[in-house]
Amino acid sequence: MADEEGKPIPIHNSQFTINNSPDGDRFPLYTPPVYQDVHEAKREAIIIGAGPAGLFAALTLLEHGIKPIIYERGKEVSERKKDIALLNRNEGLNPESNYCFGEGGAGTFSDGKLFSRSKKRGNMQRVMEIFHYFGAPDTVLYEAHAHIGSDKLPTIIKRMRECILEHGGEIHFETCVRSLKAISGQPSAISRFPIILAIGHSAHDTYRMLAAEGVAMETKGFAMGVRAEHPQELINRLMYHLGKPHLTSPQGRNTPLEGEKEGVIKYLGNASYSLVTQVDGRGVYSFCMCPGGHIVPAGSAEGMCVVNGMSASHRNSPYANSGMVVQINPEDIPGDDPLRGLEYQEELERLAFEQSAISHQPSAAPAQRMRDFVEGRASKDLPACSYLPGIVPSRLDQWLPAGIGKRLQQGFRDFDKKYPGFLTNEAVIVGVESRSSSPVRIIRDPETMESVSTPGLYPCGEGAGYAGGITSSALDGINAACRIAVLYE
Ligand SMILES: Cc1cc2nc3c(=O)[nH]c(=O)nc-3n(C[C@H](O)[C@H](O)[C@H](O)COP(=O)(O)OP(=O)(O)OC[C@H]3O[C@@H](n4cnc5c(N)ncnc54)[C@H](O)[C@@H]3O)c2cc1C
Repeated sequence: MADEEGKPIPIHNSQFTINNSPDGDRFPLYTPPVYQDVHEAKREAIIIGAGPAGLFAALTLLEHGIKPIIYERGKEVSERKKDIALLNRNEGLNPESNYCFGEGGAGTFSDGKLFSRSKKRGNMQRVMEIFHYFGAPDTVLYEAHAHIGSDKLPTIIKRMRECILEHGGEIHFETCVRSLKAISGQPSAISRFPIILAIGHSAHDTYRMLAAEGVAMETKGFAMGVRAEHPQELINRLMYHLGKPHLTSPQGRNTPLEGEKEGVIKYLGNASYSLVTQVDGRGVYSFCMCPGGHIVPAGSAEGMCVVNGMSASHRNSPYANSGMVVQINPEDIPGDDPLRGLEYQEELERLAFEQSAISHQPSAAPAQRMRDFVEGRASKDLPACSYLPGIVPSRLDQWLPAGIGKRLQQGFRDFDKKYPGFLTNEAVIVGVESRSSSPVRIIRDPETMESVSTPGLYPCGEGAGYAGGITSSALDGINAACRIAVLYE
């Protein structure tokens, strides 16, 4: 996008500048990206996966005049929305188009939290700027805990795609790469075009294909557990210190907050939390907390139950949910197969599915009230929950592996010491939160980012095991594209 003099035209002029001068002058907030026309470019790179890592890699390649050719197994975002609606209505899972697979990757229908604990990997602010350039609100440029919301992300992702296509990049949807050798066109020389591998961590079939084709991988630590959901109002009271929740009312709800207290929420928004403790040598922590959000079905295969969380930009549902996970180290899983972590995840996901299936509600997720879970009691009934496919009572205290279940029980007790009232039967835990991080690392050279086993292959993003979350995955994609630009110099 350039004007007649070749100067870049920002996609959102009104957002790209900010009127922060008393004279009403508008100042640029950042240097806009300049995307080159690559219709005729001789330099090309293949990208597998159109999640944050793949899309940011593609945009960076365009900045360097290299043509990105993207293969994405899922559908473009508006078609993907329809499959997600079917899934939420219990009308079936499309294994190629769901909360994990499709344009924008796992980040599209998420909370869109844009912060990362890893500050050393590069210019995180640039990721925010690129999101802003494609339409994210100004707040992403300055808020410490910025978020976009699942209602806004699809439009931003669509604009990224339009930009890539307009400048001469290619995107092939509904194209699952089932062999690296097949796409490189030369069985013996994968490096004919560099390949950026940005598959995310849910493509278990692709990991298995990579293993069969000799790509070096290793098991890495990851985390699994459940998703906990409280009434948002209760979390607001606890986190903003608005008075201890009274949970004895017949409805199990507090009387509404009034006056100043109500104002706190009006101005600060629904509260979030970040909790961590150590139990028997392993971390137990909250993960991907979604204030005013929803629990969603995040599986990508039949016969497995996986949950995650998301929220819209206003974060205004009456529920507060968060992953509650336990750290799992490679030595916790017997064997030496680098993919054994995947199998461990799948086992737990199948177990969760079977628990719902025995209640004759296979699309529902197994759930237990939090205090019942901690005290080892069946829940006679369950509170209202945001999970659209429904929840069924289940003894998570009995069937979760002890290494996870017992630690979570102690973890909830610890969190209650910090925030008395957190451990309550008003909260429900839903199984299982198994895809919080990748159990596999695709081994790459730390400098060049090239696979140590497969020349020309650049594993990046969450699935490669070097990033976690939207921002760090996007940044890893940028870095991989920059390595390829160096290669072509
Ligand atoms: C419901 C939900 C909510 C989340 N909320 C947040 C949040 O608020 N903030 C945050 O930072 N993170 C969040 N995450 C995590 C975040 O989405 C991921 O960390 C991030 O998307 C990883 O980016 P990625 O590009 O590495 O991989 P992904 O986003 O997983 O993208 C990988 C892409 O590769 C495609 N693919 C896989 N295999 C193949 C193949 N063989 N051929 C072709 N295409 C293939 C997939 O279809 C997918 O689109 C959430 C995740 C979920 C599921």
